[in-house]
Amino acid sequence: MQTACPSCDLVIEIPYLSAKQMAVCPHCNTKLSVSKANQDSSVVALSLSAILMLLSSMFYPFLSFSSSGITQTITLPDAARILFNYDNDFLGLFIDTSIIGLPMLLLALIIPLHLGLLRALPYLWGKRLLKVTFALEPWIMSEIFLIGVMVSMVKIMSMADIAFGVSFWSYVAFVVCYVAATTRINKQRLWQQLKEPIYIEQTQPNTRAIDQGLKACHVCGQLCNTEVCSRCQTKTFSRNPNSIQKAAAWLITSVACYIPANVYPIMYTTSLGDETPSTLIGGVMILWASGSYPIAIIIFLASVVVPLAKALVLSFLCFMVTRPANRQTKNYTRVYQLTEFIGKWSMIDVFVVAILVALVQLGNLMSVTPGIGTVFFTTMVICQMLAAHAFDPRLLWDSPANLKTAKQENLV
Ligand SMILES: [Zn+2]
Ligand SMILES: [Zn+2]
Repeated sequence: MQTACPSCDLVIEIPYLSAKQMAVCPHCNTKLSVSKANQDSSVVALSLSAILMLLSSMFYPFLSFSSSGITQTITLPDAARILFNYDNDFLGLFIDTSIIGLPMLLLALIIPLHLGLLRALPYLWGKRLLKVTFALEPWIMSEIFLIGVMVSMVKIMSMADIAFGVSFWSYVAFVVCYVAATTRINKQRLWQQLKEPIYIEQTQPNTRAIDQGLKACHVCGQLCNTEVCSRCQTKTFSRNPNSIQKAAAWLITSVACYIPANVYPIMYTTSLGDETPSTLIGGVMILWASGSYPIAIIIFLASVVVPLAKALVLSFLCFMVTRPANRQTKNYTRVYQLTEFIGKWSMIDVFVVAILVALVQLGNLMSVTPGIGTVFFTTMVICQMLAAHAFDPRLLWDSPANLKTAKQENLV
């Protein structure tokens, strides 16, 4: 199979891979392809189990919380529903979609796709279905939500008795099956079922695609020399159009949200009639003072350090694009990949607030309400994810002359 590395644009001929082998780019070490070994039956079995576990986690008690003889029990959909009651529709919708709606949709699509649906569907439908399926994955945050639940339990353990319900354990099983199923999906195999890759003669391996007038489709990886991908009919670009401008715009928005996210309270705790606001840093300090050092460190890293580091790294990379590639470019590519990977883990704190708000509702005795800081924080994380997504790492490997060609082409 021919392809161009999505990180450095080197044209590569991938040989046939046997089971458990994978191909990496010799230039920048990006993972390119895994063996086409058939794992369809395990994907279907795991997805089916994941759906059943997710469904069963919706109807039984998820967590319960008791203090001074009063017990509050919540189900999983309550976590989002209670946020709706506080006029926090944006957060409620975000949580519902990212932890229940999207995973359910993705699993419901994965199963028929791995049972050979692509061979039965007309080409146009199959193409759309594959595109939608692969676009969903980055927005699913079930595993992060689970960590958020654990963190919030540590936060309130000292104040009250906590009990995990049946639904909590089903949700844990769902996350395990979901992660196992999605890591087994072989995207190239599915694209191949839609249409065999088209072989382009006279390519020079180990030369960059842009120098040969070739482009790798950003959706299916097919190497093309046409305006539209020959396999999935997406418009092809040698570089993401206006990549740096888009990344910079999202980045500026995220930095603008970072300030209010840290200044305004993310939640209010009412205890015996006293309302105490707490900010991101305040929450970390309380955890530290109570002796939960590992959790305090995780939250500090995820909510304070990572967003700041991400903004700095992405601005640095946007600047480095103007310089020719050098010996460090390989490391910059790796840093970019890491930034993209850890992006959504910053959401832990939002889920912690959601769980606490849903669970701790004992009126004046003790209750937690969400603060405006959470909305800014969520917006900031989403903007950073979009900034990382908009940035094209191949630009780092371009010489400024190539960059000009790419720019001219995108303007056409
Ligand atoms: Zn590469
Ligand atoms: Zn394509």
